[in-house]
Amino acid sequence: MNTIQNAYKTEQLTQAKLLINGEFIDSNTTQWQDIINPATQEVIGRVPFATRDEVNAAIAAAQNAFATWRETPLQARMRIMLKLQDLIRMHAKSIAKVLTAEQGKTLADAEGDIQRGLEVVEHACSIGTLQMGEYLEGVARGVDTYTLQQPLGVCAGITPFNFPAMIPLWMFPMAIVCGNTFVLKPSEQDPLSTMMLVELAIQAGVPAGVLNVVHGGKEVVDMLCTHTDIKAISFVGSTAVGTHVYNLAGQHGKRVQSMMGAKNHVVVMPDANKEQTLNALVGAAFGAAGQRCMALSVAVMVGESQHWVDELVAKAKTLKVNAGHEPNTDIGPVISTRAKARVLDLIQSGVEQGAQLLLDGRDVQVPGYENGNFVGATIFNHATTEMRIYQEEIFGPVLVIIHVDTLEEAIALINANPFGNGVGLFTQSGATARTFQNKIDIGQVGINIPIPVPVPFFSFTGSRGSKLGDLGPYGKQAVQFYTQTKTITSRWFEDDQESSGVNTTISLR
Ligand code: NAD
Repeated sequence: MNTIQNAYKTEQLTQAKLLINGEFIDSNTTQWQDIINPATQEVIGRVPFATRDEVNAAIAAAQNAFATWRETPLQARMRIMLKLQDLIRMHAKSIAKVLTAEQGKTLADAEGDIQRGLEVVEHACSIGTLQMGEYLEGVARGVDTYTLQQPLGVCAGITPFNFPAMIPLWMFPMAIVCGNTFVLKPSEQDPLSTMMLVELAIQAGVPAGVLNVVHGGKEVVDMLCTHTDIKAISFVGSTAVGTHVYNLAGQHGKRVQSMMGAKNHVVVMPDANKEQTLNALVGAAFGAAGQRCMALSVAVMVGESQHWVDELVAKAKTLKVNAGHEPNTDIGPVISTRAKARVLDLIQSGVEQGAQLLLDGRDVQVPGYENGNFVGATIFNHATTEMRIYQEEIFGPVLVIIHVDTLEEAIALINANPFGNGVGLFTQSGATARTFQNKIDIGQVGINIPIPVPVPFFSFTGSRGSKLGDLGPYGKQAVQFYTQTKTITSRWFEDDQESSGVNTTISLR
């Protein structure tokens, strides 16, 4: 079996490389950032902040490659995706190990991260049917109209730290299979597993210049958002940065989608299946240490379900906090010491603002990993909407509980929250579920499902403060996002056809 190492290894140390015009190269930059294992604080590698010349070279390579790539038959593009999905499957376990080391999530969750991205690659293998245009015969006498879904040119993707496999795979496979070329800017906090996937894409046959990678932070992102040769930007990350990217790239005439932060609620009705509901709440709130954009942050207990809180806490207490690679771990570390300090600050604010701290994960000890960024499962009861723990995205293993009397109150509460990423409802009543799905103003709704991330045949959605731009990053909407519709209206004359003379009206007839 072939190995993956060109993308991130040198003889001396593990460092993320740039990918420019098919070559994995060491950056000339003087600015580097350490990549740190969040369970141990061990420096496991370093990442360059690419120079302006390097970013320009990556965009130029993508621009040059576009002319040939867009003419490459789509079966050839699909076959590369078919090969890529095979290679990812083959290397999933070794990528998961690197992902866990640099990101902290458990090995099982790292494999899930890769699997959810892999499903997008599988979907990209059927681009032949997804990219079809429309044809309508006879729109006027002898006139037909049809559409082409043509690639845009050079597209760019900017990704967050929490899904270093899935989110890059939401973007570049769909973009390039549609005939675009791509410049990817992975998260600087955990780029190594992303680079392994990129290397597999090159091994699968992605030609030089079609996929390029630059690393960095704000300066590199701003260059991508303003460069004239980039036609579209797909961003996933926090609301603050996503809003900046959306505005900056939009001002420079680009098509933009920003998938941003969240504060996800789950509504628990008293008629719900209690055991299933409580298990789902605990998994969704504390899995991946709460660092999912679809993590559960707020449980809204309706009426009599208020009496289930003690059992919820008892279940959360059983979760094992440990390094992600250790067996039976439920909660790994958060990504950085800075992220941990932020989570602890928010927990303290909840205490000071008067929420009832039922389970306190602040002083969790993990033998053998005393320096890790661990926070145990934390639960606040009787929170209110004025509190910071309710208003801010915590991005840590903290669940906030609010009590209301009716479904209508729950819906009003959630619709008043600025975020609109995901929501869940637990009930055994179809009528309640139908009312909820109709009235709730949230992009992704789960009915007895806590983290309703859509499979790739649909698209990732999100509303209000969680998303800017109309189209999602994978699924049918990604094909729309990465192509532009050209509408052709045609008429062919018979040699002996009689002319109807000059017509100065707008009508085709
Ligand atoms: P982040 O916004 O800090 O970083 C995202 C990307 O933006 C990174 O590549 C980073 O290098 C770059 N960046 C950081 N600061 C920048 C700046 N000032 N200017 C320009 N670029 C900058 O996000 P993160 O902490 O890596 O990821 C967590 C966030 O992402 C959470 O808010 C989470 O909800 C969100 N997220 C959303 C979705 C979704 O689909 N809605 C999915 C995953 C994560």
